[in-house]
Amino acid sequence: MDRQQDFVLRTIEDRDVRFVRLWFTDVIGTLKSVALAPAEVEGAFTEGLGFDGSSIDGYTRIFESDMLLQPDPSTFQILPWRGEQERTSRMFCDVLTPEGEPSPADPRHVLRRVLNRAADMGFSCYTHPEIEFYLLQSSQPGPDGKPVPVDSAGYFDHVPGGVAQDFRRHAVTLLEDMGISVEFSHHEGGPGQNEIDLRAADALTTADNIMTFRTVIKEVASLNDHYATFMPKPFSEHPGSGMHTHFSLFEGDSNAFYDPSDEYRLSTTARQFIAGLLHHSVEITAVTHQFVNSYKRLWGGGEAPAYVSWGHNNRSALVRVPLYKPDKAGSARIEYRGLDAGVNPYLAYALLLAAGLKGIEEGYELPEAAAEDISALTTMERRALGHQPLPGTLHDALRIMEDSEFVAEVLGEHVFETLLRNKAQEWDDYRVQVTEYEIKRYLSGL
Ligand code: GLN
Ligand code: MG
Ligand code: MG
Ligand code: MG
Repeated sequence: MDRQQDFVLRTIEDRDVRFVRLWFTDVIGTLKSVALAPAEVEGAFTEGLGFDGSSIDGYTRIFESDMLLQPDPSTFQILPWRGEQERTSRMFCDVLTPEGEPSPADPRHVLRRVLNRAADMGFSCYTHPEIEFYLLQSSQPGPDGKPVPVDSAGYFDHVPGGVAQDFRRHAVTLLEDMGISVEFSHHEGGPGQNEIDLRAADALTTADNIMTFRTVIKEVASLNDHYATFMPKPFSEHPGSGMHTHFSLFEGDSNAFYDPSDEYRLSTTARQFIAGLLHHSVEITAVTHQFVNSYKRLWGGGEAPAYVSWGHNNRSALVRVPLYKPDKAGSARIEYRGLDAGVNPYLAYALLLAAGLKGIEEGYELPEAAAEDISALTTMERRALGHQPLPGTLHDALRIMEDSEFVAEVLGEHVFETLLRNKAQEWDDYRVQVTEYEIKRYLSGL
């Protein structure tokens, strides 16, 4: 038993914790949970907890159905919304094969592998996400078939006595109780749309925090008889929900992205990292935008970046270099605006970091920054400037991803194949649907 495991066992006893939930994630990014009696935790630390993974997305190969969950004691937290009675806690787990090897199906392991590679290059990777979501009256649509938001406010609106304000305060309090620091929160552009930004942490912790965040937001919504959704585009006429993420690399205590002598205060390492993100952004789109609905956000306006480009404070760019003060060397970072709120954070971060690291390893050249609003350019202008479009549909994205050696290598063959299969099925289900749009558009005229 190591020190951290000891600490968990003591806390369970001292605070009279009755349930310990073990959390892990499937390839799509759905949180899975199994509750353990406190007496079983010591055994789970030493031997792992056996479970049958055969009906979980990505863990489906029958001969691999016996998996082990190995709880990570550094992630132990009491779940604050469960109250003082019958205290409940959780730990994230690594998934192991019966032989005790990391499971090739575990997204957490995919990310860890990339972080180990970064460490070999001398880097630690920090991330912070800006997570957007819609707060709705309920999970059921209204009489017109559309979701019903809790308010009609807009960007940065302050609504006195508003539902969203109390909601954000409640959510932020619970997140902080669980050790997840929030930088700020505000109303977003759409009715009922909110954004909460987490403070920077190492990339694995951030991915765990995003999984916890989604659970907390949904719990707080349901405690208030509302419903929260991370669906990328719930309304065609309002902005979608993104999950812009800021990245920085550190070498020891020093920010490897910072160079005071550069025009944008960007080091060569930062430029190569951005070049890597841009270079690989098209082939990773089926992961950064993994649902049929993701492409409605991407191509439906509302400041979602649909073209490969970077810019200095340019909000139509896929990668944005935020302005920071020269004395704030430590905060040098770049923002990837392509992610939507429905991603699997482990897989998306693994691919983005691997893309950036490859840019550094291979010394990729960064093209010119985009100075103008890219969505307002003509196709010819965009071509001339080299701003390639991201794929238009999940189908297009899958077609490109299936030829990508880069994605196959980063995800590992098992996750790569599982995703391609799962997502092709999603596209096949979708493409044969006759939609409300088609009935309206064609029924009476044809
Ligand atoms: N909602 C937009 C998106 O989907 C972002 C809007 C913003 O934060 N400026 O990316
Ligand atoms: Mg923001
Ligand atoms: Mg925002
Ligand atoms: Mg942003």
